[in-house]
Amino acid sequence: MSDDLPFWKTKKLHQMSRDEWESLCDGCGRCCLVKLYDEDDPEMNVHYTSVHCTLLDSRSCRCSDYPNRRDKVPGCTVLTPDNLGAIKWMPSTCGYRLIREGKELEWWHPLVSGDPNTVHDAGISVRGKVVSEDDVPETDLFKFLITWAR
Ligand code: SF4
Ligand code: SF4
Repeated sequence: MSDDLPFWKTKKLHQMSRDEWESLCDGCGRCCLVKLYDEDDPEMNVHYTSVHCTLLDSRSCRCSDYPNRRDKVPGCTVLTPDNLGAIKWMPSTCGYRLIREGKELEWWHPLVSGDPNTVHDAGISVRGKVVSEDDVPETDLFKFLITWAR
């Protein structure tokens, strides 16, 4: 019976192969947006901006140097089955978060649709909605606060 089910419905996150794990990413690019914290907020809630990391390709919504991302962007968060639960700011649409929370992947997830473009067609990805951090002074980041990426 379970042989008929796809791997994300039968395996725990830590049981997945490297390729299976990587394929859970829907390619939305949301987690690569610059996030701000209010220092006066005791809960340190995270606020997304529409400003993306310098390495994000805003057309493909993928990292332009994924293998070397940590060398080039030390603040980049590398997701693992072990740290996923502790990262509270992952978008509610994120494939990793959905699977960890026991939820279904949406129709537009490339694993479900079989088409990497559906995440863009459905308006889930950041394509067409963001600017690079290279073009925004740090002091202006607060002007780019958004709520759609959560
Ligand atoms: S939010 Fe999740 S699904 Fe989207 S790019 Fe980041 S890791 Fe991938
Ligand atoms: S280094 Fe790559 S994976 Fe990390 S936040 Fe930037 S674009 Fe995203």
